Amino acid sequence: MLTEVRTGVRHEGASLVHSVVMSGQPNFFEEVNKSFDEAAKFTEYPAGLLDQIRCCNSVYRFDFPLRRQNGTIEVIHAWRAEHSHHKMPVKGGIRYSSGVYEEEVMALAALMTYKCAIVDVPFGGAKGGIKIEPRDYSVEELERITRRYTHELVKKGFIGPGIDVPAPDYGTGEREMAWIADTYAALNPGQLDAMGCVTGKPVTQGGVNGRREATGRGLYFALREACAHGELMKGIGLSPGLEGKRVVVQGLGNVGFHAAKFCREGGATLIAIAEREGAIFSESGLDENAVFQHRKQTGSILDFPGAKNLASTAAALELECDVLLPAALEGVFTAENAPRIKARIILEGANGPTTPEADPIFREKGILVIPDIYCNAGGVTVSYFEWLKNLSHVRFGRMSKRHEQANELTMLKAIEAATGKRFSDAERASIAKGPDEADLVNSGLEETMISAFHDLLETRRRHPGVPDLRIAAFVNAIHKVARSYMELGIFP
Ligand code: NAD
Repeated sequence: MLTEVRTGVRHEGASLVHSVVMSGQPNFFEEVNKSFDEAAKFTEYPAGLLDQIRCCNSVYRFDFPLRRQNGTIEVIHAWRAEHSHHKMPVKGGIRYSSGVYEEEVMALAALMTYKCAIVDVPFGGAKGGIKIEPRDYSVEELERITRRYTHELVKKGFIGPGIDVPAPDYGTGEREMAWIADTYAALNPGQLDAMGCVTGKPVTQGGVNGRREATGRGLYFALREACAHGELMKGIGLSPGLEGKRVVVQGLGNVGFHAAKFCREGGATLIAIAEREGAIFSESGLDENAVFQHRKQTGSILDFPGAKNLASTAAALELECDVLLPAALEGVFTAENAPRIKARIILEGANGPTTPEADPIFREKGILVIPDIYCNAGGVTVSYFEWLKNLSHVRFGRMSKRHEQANELTMLKAIEAATGKRFSDAERASIAKGPDEADLVNSGLEETMISAFHDLLETRRRHPGVPDLRIAAFVNAIHKVARSYMELGIFP
């Protein structure tokens, strides 16, 4: 087995990256750093501090063998990158994809650092990846891969409730997170906070209500807030409000499905869905759940009753629409296809869907890009709530629900006595219910997404030269991480 732990700090981190990039390979990490560098021009921090923020502190790359069910042995390639230790633990998802490569994991870890800073989640950024196509493995094989991966992270100190806390990402979900938690707990008997070693777990295994749909719900809050802003909408030629906005979604996985659901329930019309196998279109609107069920039964979203098959997945991205929601992988919008994009708003559910070459084209075309490092932060926000729940060993609302309900009932009775009006049983039940865990989680998420959005607008107002919301988001993140280093006394 090959193992390698790389630890780079300050300039070493950056030079290390260049040394491992193979020619011709896409370098997502460098793309993230281009946006970082553009934003850094709007700050006045010393170059050394900016270098420290930008570099990826540690990368653990390892291989391990898997005995497949057919008896053959296969070597599995895996990574965990910890981008910034300015706050501990570090946090970020684990991706299972045949396309995973080292600089991708580093880039995704960097985005996590900036994302956590933007939404005031007190973690550094991290990310993990295993280079497999999950559909090619049985559930039993996937379980063995996940448990072995966790074992390797434990051995090298790359997982733990106060060290590094993974979560789901592309190709993983609650099932994998439950295997990780179980493996970690088995290797750390008696550790009281063991369940806090990973988030995105099933609710029965220490998860929190609302985590599964949190990224999609957060995207909906971000879009709703942007659409409610009259001036912003006027600038891109749209009327205020989400009602009737025509939405195209790429990727009907965890993020795309839930974002589509909440946007549709919030009044938008889902006119097209694109998946790996192709895309479908319906002017009168699609129901994401019906499409999901159709795909489950037939293996494809194509030939969905009442919808038209489109020529290709790519064609869906170029449809006339108000909102385009990429929720699959990075590198979707390039200099080649950006000129043909007709959406007025791009809501970045995926991480890194817009390349640095596409960004200026979108600015030129007056397209409002709501950037990934802000708008898909709902997942990590609710993961933070799950981690807090695991450390406190009590579900949200358990201590206060009945107390608040009693207060609300007292208030209703006082209103009835003062006005003579009698509330119906239904009104009584909906007003005086006391918040349960899902209510508290969703309201914490809503508050987070709304206030972070207004922080972005405020940054643009303070720096008129900031060209778009992505650079505004990076400026905010740089300020917050820099302040953290300065408070540690490392930099003057
Ligand atoms: P997922 O595996 O649940 O879903 C991804 C979907 O995209 C799958 O249905 C897949 O078939 C589809 N897809 C793949 N290639 C495609 C293509 N070329 N065209 C159309 N569809 C394609 O993954 P997810 O968790 O929903 O993550 C999606 C994106 O969102 C990733 O970029 C991830 O990093 C990002 N993200 C995820 C979370 C989270 O909480 N899961 C949080 C923030 C950001």
